[in-house]
Amino acid sequence: MINFQYTRANDVSDAIRQIAADSNAKFIAGGTNLLDLMKIDVEQPSHLIDISHLPLTRVEEVAGGGVRIGALVPNSDLAWHPLIAKRYPMLSSAILAGASAQLRNMASTGGNLMQRTRCFYFYDTVTPCNKREPGSGCSAIRGVNRINAILGTSESCIATHPSDMCVALAVLDANVHVMGPSGERTIAMTDFHRLPGNTPQRDTNLNADEIITAIELPAEGFNKNYTYLKIRDRLSYAFALVSIAAGMEMDGKTIRQARFALGGVAHKPWRDQSAEALLNGQQATPETFMRAANHLLRDARGYDHNTFKIELARRTIVRGLTQAANGTPQSQSNKKIA
Ligand SMILES: Cc1cc2nc3c(=O)[nH]c(=O)nc-3n(C[C@H](O)[C@H](O)[C@H](O)COP(=O)(O)OP(=O)(O)OC[C@H]3O[C@@H](n4cnc5c(N)ncnc54)[C@H](O)[C@@H]3O)c2cc1C
Ligand code: SF4
Repeated sequence: MINFQYTRANDVSDAIRQIAADSNAKFIAGGTNLLDLMKIDVEQPSHLIDISHLPLTRVEEVAGGGVRIGALVPNSDLAWHPLIAKRYPMLSSAILAGASAQLRNMASTGGNLMQRTRCFYFYDTVTPCNKREPGSGCSAIRGVNRINAILGTSESCIATHPSDMCVALAVLDANVHVMGPSGERTIAMTDFHRLPGNTPQRDTNLNADEIITAIELPAEGFNKNYTYLKIRDRLSYAFALVSIAAGMEMDGKTIRQARFALGGVAHKPWRDQSAEALLNGQQATPETFMRAANHLLRDARGYDHNTFKIELARRTIVRGLTQAANGTPQSQSNKKIA
C-alpha cells in the first residue's frame, strides 16, 4: 500500500496553488485512467487533488460563433450536447467510438486529453519502459509492438496516444485553455501532445503546475461532410489500431477545403497539412484520396508486429475521406462517388 494525501480543490486558483506546492501531486477528475494506473503502481502520486467539483462543466457559445467546453464536462454529456451533436457531429462520433457508456459517463474532457498510452510495457512494471522510468529502455521496439506507432517514433519510445476525442479536436483546430501560477495561456490542440523524442515521459506541453480549464472550438464544424472511422480488433470497447477524423467543405464533387487526422498511429493525433493541401480544389475521387494517403504515410515505419498498420492506415484514409465527401459519415455506407 502506497500512502497518498487526498484533498479537494475549492476553486481553480486553489487547485493551482495545491499542485504548484507538490511536484509529485496529481489532479484527479473522473479517475478512469489515473486510478487504474495507481492500482498497478505505474502512477504513484504523493497527493491527489480532487478537481471533480470545480465549476468547469458548461458547454457554451462564445463570440465569433465558436463553442467553449469546460474541462470537467463528462464525455457522454459532451457527445450528446445539442450544440455539439448539431454543429460538430464529428466530435460526437469520435467520443462515442471510445470506451463504454459507463466510462464515458465518468471520464472528463480534460482527463481524456491527459490519458496515458496503452503500450503493454508501460503497464508492466517489471519491464523497461522509458516513459514510465526514463533511461530504462524501450521494451516495445523489439517486443510485442502490434498496437504501437508507425509515425513520429524515436529510438526512446514508439507509443501511441489512445484518445479518439483528441483526433477530432485536432481536425477542428480546437484550442486548449490552461491556467498556472503565472496566469492563463492557450495551446493549439495540434501542439498539445508531443512526439516522444528523447523525453517520452512527457506526453504533453502542459506544465506540471498547470490545469486544463476548457477547450474552445472555432465556428467551423464540418457538420455536412465529416466522418470518424475507427478500425479496431473488436467493434466496441477497444482502442483504435487506426482511426481517421475527416471534415470537408464540398462544392459539388470538388473539395473546397479538407482536413483530416489519424489516431492510433503516433504519440499524438497525426495531422499533416501538406497532405490536406493535396485535396483542396481537387475532385473527390479514390485517386485523389490515395495520393493524400501516400503523402501522409511517406515516412511511416513499421516494427516487427505492426507493419500491417501502414497499409491499414492507407485504406482507412481512402475510406474515411470517401465517406466524408459523400456526406455518409457512418462506416457501413459503401455509396460510391459517381
Ligand atoms: C477500459 C477502458 C477503455 C477505454 N477506451 C477508450 C477509447 O476507446 N477511446 C478513448 O479515447 N479513451 C478510452 N478510454 C480512456 C478514457 O477516455 C479516459 O480514461 C478518460 O477520458 C480519462 O478521463 P478522467 O476524467 O477519468 O481522467 P482521470 O483518470 O481523472 O485523470 C487522467 C489524467 O488526467 C489528469 N487530469 C484530469 N483532468 C485534468 C485537468 N483538468 N487538467 C490537468 N490534468 C488533468 C490527471 O491528473 C491524470 O493524470 C478507456 C478507458 C478505459 C478504462
Ligand atoms: S513504446 Fe514507450 S511506453 Fe512503450 S515500452 Fe517503449 S518507452 Fe515504454
